[in-house]
Amino acid sequence: MSHADVVIVGSGVMGAATAYWLTRLQPGLTVTLVESDTRYDKASSSLSASSIRQQFTCPVNIRLSQYGIAFLREAEQHLSLPDHPVALGLQEPGYLFLAQPEQEAALQTAHQIQKQAGADVALLGPEALRQRFPWLNVDDVALGSLGLSGEGWFDGPALHQAFLKKALAQGVQRLHDRVVGLDHSATQINAVRLASGGTLPCGQLVNAAGPWAGAVAAMAGVQLPVEATRRTVFVLSCPEPLAHCPLLIDPTGWWLRPEGRFFISGAEPLHTQADLPLEPDWSEWNDNQWASLAHRIPALAALRVERAWAGYYEMNTFDHNAVIGPHPELGNLNFINGFSGHGMQHAAGAGLALAEWMLLGQAQTIDVQELGFERLVHNRPLRELAVIG
Ligand SMILES: Cc1cc2nc3c(=O)[nH]c(=O)nc-3n(C[C@H](O)[C@H](O)[C@H](O)COP(=O)(O)OP(=O)(O)OC[C@H]3O[C@@H](n4cnc5c(N)ncnc54)[C@H](O)[C@@H]3O)c2cc1C
Repeated sequence: MSHADVVIVGSGVMGAATAYWLTRLQPGLTVTLVESDTRYDKASSSLSASSIRQQFTCPVNIRLSQYGIAFLREAEQHLSLPDHPVALGLQEPGYLFLAQPEQEAALQTAHQIQKQAGADVALLGPEALRQRFPWLNVDDVALGSLGLSGEGWFDGPALHQAFLKKALAQGVQRLHDRVVGLDHSATQINAVRLASGGTLPCGQLVNAAGPWAGAVAAMAGVQLPVEATRRTVFVLSCPEPLAHCPLLIDPTGWWLRPEGRFFISGAEPLHTQADLPLEPDWSEWNDNQWASLAHRIPALAALRVERAWAGYYEMNTFDHNAVIGPHPELGNLNFINGFSGHGMQHAAGAGLALAEWMLLGQAQTIDVQELGFERLVHNRPLRELAVIG
């Protein structure tokens, strides 16, 4: 098989965004996406809640979200093709994190970090919350943190397809195959080995294998602490409208947001082993969960569960943060992994940062240096504390 300048393993939103940026920044670069599941049935990019927030505790994540929201607002201009107009249905009603008294200090600290990084967020006491959201029970709430702009949700699979189609239109090739091995020396990757029997030599390799990124890294003898951890999303209907409902994060850990005329909701999983079957965990839908939802939003006492789906977070068990950039020793092995459930919103910025790092020697538009692989080598975790569900 012919050589490609860059081979990307996986063409979910990360692989597709990286391919898009590489060929936009350097037209003529030969880029091949290798994808084993071209229906994307199990890809996180198909099963995401596709929401975007500024409310992180690591400034680098806020920077990626600031870039992300700007890109989403202009996605039509960036990604539309004559035969494929892009409409992402972006809405920005905000995220609302609620804190009980014992969580108040942590919410205040996060707020300082977010304000310093330029996020448009406000702290609201119970009375202000009551006035803004009369359907919300805040009797046991000390404080809420609301995103005033730049937070909301969009059509994630549409963003994924838009990156993919635009990348293909810019000359990227997509190969329907599975990468089963990597030919490498101590300092570089030479080629990928394919399930179909072929070998594809490459100048650079990108690991964009989502929840399966750990297995791809292991093919080069590299330990990457990324696991496929299942999350269940429940689709609910509520008999009453909840005016201006944001993406709500309850102090007990569950989240809920509108989705068309329905709501979607999830909680921290009861079973946390890696690689559980990709089926909804109905044991999470129990009396406690129901009671907790109805406590916070009394109208939900009459809710109906319409359906549920499950997807994998690509969980970085080291520090719940992305790994972006090259390996310190295998210099042409690049990572865009471990987004731990917040990757859809960061795909545009992360893909750009990695493309710049690969082509120009460092990320230029967004400083993502601290997300580099070096922190794993030196055992210096960069912990993101605001991981939802
Ligand atoms: C339930 C749920 C809710 C979420 N909510 C949000 C949210 O609200 N906001 C947000 O920003 N993010 C959210 N996320 C996270 C977000 O969806 C992911 O961070 C993002 O989709 C990861 O994209 P990816 O391209 O890395 O992985 P994927 O989309 O999984 O793509 C990886 C691809 O690699 C392919 N692959 C793997 N191994 C190989 C191989 N050996 N050979 C060939 N191909 C291979 C796979 O087939 C797959 O298509 C959520 C995720 C889930 C599951």
